[in-house]
Amino acid sequence: MNENRLREEIAWFGQSLFNRGYGCGSSGNISVRLDDGFLVTPTNSSMGRLDPARISKLDPQGRHLSGDKPSKEAFLHTSMYAVRPDDHAIVHLHATHSVAVACMADVDPEDVLPPITAYYVMRVGKLPLIPYFRPGDAALADAVAGAARRHHAMLLANHGPVVSAKALDAAVYCAEELEETAKLFLLLKDRPMRCLDEVQLAELAAAFPS
Ligand code: ZN
Repeated sequence: MNENRLREEIAWFGQSLFNRGYGCGSSGNISVRLDDGFLVTPTNSSMGRLDPARISKLDPQGRHLSGDKPSKEAFLHTSMYAVRPDDHAIVHLHATHSVAVACMADVDPEDVLPPITAYYVMRVGKLPLIPYFRPGDAALADAVAGAARRHHAMLLANHGPVVSAKALDAAVYCAEELEETAKLFLLLKDRPMRCLDEVQLAELAAAFPS
């Protein structure tokens, strides 16, 4: 897909996510990998009204080349791309239910959400919790890169989810599945919950190898 088409896709998915409540204010950012760098949503921009022509372009080292100034969280994206060469798109959201789960004290940091549905298991899989770092702390980039070697989806503590995929639509669908599963988890957490069992998970892994 050429660069102009990708710019339009970022704006379209950004507006779709914003209109359905997956972001508010200027929160959330989207990127895609190009042959000669990256496109990243600009700093202080609303996902709901992105101008395709003003989306930031970075070189392969993450330096700003053109367009508006990139998101202050662009380093989350570049550090994840660096260790996931087959992935071409990343979505990071401050979506309400995912952030709520990211603030819970008693979750398993190795795998935050239980296997509630088959689609969550297929689209997201294991979800590690990355420890909290203040905004702008370079140590967050190292923590994200460390987890990204083994996981394409992660939850930043007291912050929100970051997911990568081979293409933009798949990254958006993964972020949506994660947010909806966080919502289900919060709806169900005070009730006896029947999750997929070991046999069902093994059957799923055999039918849909990742
Ligand atoms: Zn963020």
